[in-house]
Amino acid sequence: MAYNCVVLAKQVPDTANISGKAMKEDGTVNRAALAAIVNPEDLNALEMALQVKERHGGNVTVLTMGPPRAAEILREALYRGADRVILLTDRKTAGSDTLATSYVLKCAVEKIGDYDLIFCGRQAIDGDTAQVGPQVAEKLGLPQITYAESILSLDGREITVRRAFPLGSETVKCRLPCLLTVVSSANQPRPASARRTLAYKLAAIPQEYPALLARWPEFETEEALDLFLGERGLRISVWNGADAGVDYDRVGLGGSPTKVLNVNYVVLGASESKEVDATKEGVAALIDELVKDYTL
Ligand SMILES: Cc1cc2nc3c(=O)[nH]c(=O)nc-3n(C[C@H](O)[C@H](O)[C@H](O)COP(=O)(O)OP(=O)(O)OC[C@H]3O[C@@H](n4cnc5c(N)ncnc54)[C@H](O)[C@@H]3O)c2cc1C
Repeated sequence: MAYNCVVLAKQVPDTANISGKAMKEDGTVNRAALAAIVNPEDLNALEMALQVKERHGGNVTVLTMGPPRAAEILREALYRGADRVILLTDRKTAGSDTLATSYVLKCAVEKIGDYDLIFCGRQAIDGDTAQVGPQVAEKLGLPQITYAESILSLDGREITVRRAFPLGSETVKCRLPCLLTVVSSANQPRPASARRTLAYKLAAIPQEYPALLARWPEFETEEALDLFLGERGLRISVWNGADAGVDYDRVGLGGSPTKVLNVNYVVLGASESKEVDATKEGVAALIDELVKDYTL
């Protein structure tokens, strides 16, 4: 039996390589100043979906909600094997908290329709809440399997999954359709394929056409470029909230019950660091000290 998979992927600032001012005065992330990547666990989610497609047939659709720049991660998904990608971008959704974000994603997934499995990363490395996957499942009325590490079997309308935790694992079964949030230990995401990168390097959204025309002036007009891309399946679908049937009262800052009141920076000074001898005794003394002050 073939399965239609939807992967929810988020473009995130590369928090492992921060330079410059990472936060704005209003407490939101200064995304323009940071390099942007696919949220790492979303690559694990994509890999799991691609493996389902390879073993059983079906298709993989990747959906992201974000600014036009998020088209970058959709190209990345195409390079790695996605069949279809969709960007949901709408200024009215800016400032959405997890409740509003999951509502928009739920609307978009309903518009995609005919899905068997939805894959999310467990957690995004910027917002870090791990709430969006479970909230999307809740809003769609679907069962959810969080911390999914391995699909042990997929048989007809039933899936068996191993969930992984720091202190063990659990095996659960559920009926499709369902939503999985995938952990980083699930797999080694495949790299972009060279063949697919060549095939999809021109895949674009209309907002990117001016930059493409500057590189390939022979297309002359955006209309001609759009026709060329459309005929070759390289026009990335772009939806706004209305396309997905979103009620705008439920999104953006106005539709978000969570408000960021304050952002605190933690700066570790030299007095808070300590050098430990790289010996058995040095480590034992450190453990002793941490047990005594109840850190461990
Ligand atoms: C008051 C408030 C204001 C905010 N304002 C802004 C703002 O102005 N700009 C801004 O960028 N963020 C803003 N945020 C952050 C925003 O809420 C989160 O980025 C977003 O809701 C996702 O939450 P998370 O990062 O914790 O994702 P998690 O719940 O940790 O993500 C889990 C998984 O859900 C999926 N997922 C999450 N987000 C998306 C997405 N957008 N598209 C597709 N899949 C997704 C992915 O599979 C991901 O791995 C704001 C938050 C609050 C509370």
